[in-house]
Amino acid sequence: MEIALHPTARHDKDEETMEYATLAVERHDAVCRISLARESARNAQSQQMLDELDDALSRAEQDDAVRVVILAGRGAHFSAGHDLKEAQAKRADFTVEERWDYESRRYYGYCLRIWDFPKPTVAQVQGACVAGGFMIANMCDLVVCSDTAYFSDPVGHTLAAAATEVLIHPWVMGLRKAKEMLYTGEKVDAQEALRIGMVNRVVPEAELDAATLALAQRIAQAPPFGLRLIKRSLNRTADAQGFRTALSAHFDTHQLSHLSEEFQAVRERGLAQAIQRNKKGEAA
Ligand code: ZN
Repeated sequence: MEIALHPTARHDKDEETMEYATLAVERHDAVCRISLARESARNAQSQQMLDELDDALSRAEQDDAVRVVILAGRGAHFSAGHDLKEAQAKRADFTVEERWDYESRRYYGYCLRIWDFPKPTVAQVQGACVAGGFMIANMCDLVVCSDTAYFSDPVGHTLAAAATEVLIHPWVMGLRKAKEMLYTGEKVDAQEALRIGMVNRVVPEAELDAATLALAQRIAQAPPFGLRLIKRSLNRTADAQGFRTALSAHFDTHQLSHLSEEFQAVRERGLAQAIQRNKKGEAA
């Protein structure tokens, strides 16, 4: 299993931030904003981006001056999901073992590290928040979105996969709505996301940056250890309801779906092409 060494990362002593090939990291006092920055690819999550994001979060965790983290996306879209062109080129012929290693580390493991991040996190979402994008945004404690935002997980329709790797859906919108979203593959728009409690606030696109930062700065005023304990208790409430057990069971089921005849047929025709064939036009 190769581990990316972040060859493009360098330390900027003045800004106290790292520079990444696929991310932009800014500090605003006690708030660290980490933005996905592959605008031309609608912030599709490549292996490098996922490794860089995990690295950036680790640094924010270790930095005592950072009290709240915002996870954002540059450009018109938060993230269209995993980079399927890269997946087709590099991972189409993965063995079961190789896929398990890759997805358990970079999809499941990295997501749970966001969930378990000891400081409060806020997702800042505009445009597409789809599949792998939906997964990471919903690992954050709060979600602020613009009126252009939409959320979907169409991979049951497009790829014949058992949803995305981390089945966060029923925990952030309720079981019935999660079934509708996954059975239809259709989008949930910003107002609907607010109505069903999946996002905390909807703001005009032009105000998204400032509104998210203002919320994060408000949170950052609270004593950090107390906040850390509150988050710990809230996440343990989910654990008491079976959160981690359900997610890990789904990961196994998702791996099974990668071996199905249905999935193999899609893979042979091309993963990225499967998205273009789908009339909804969204990635996974
Ligand atoms: Zn998968």
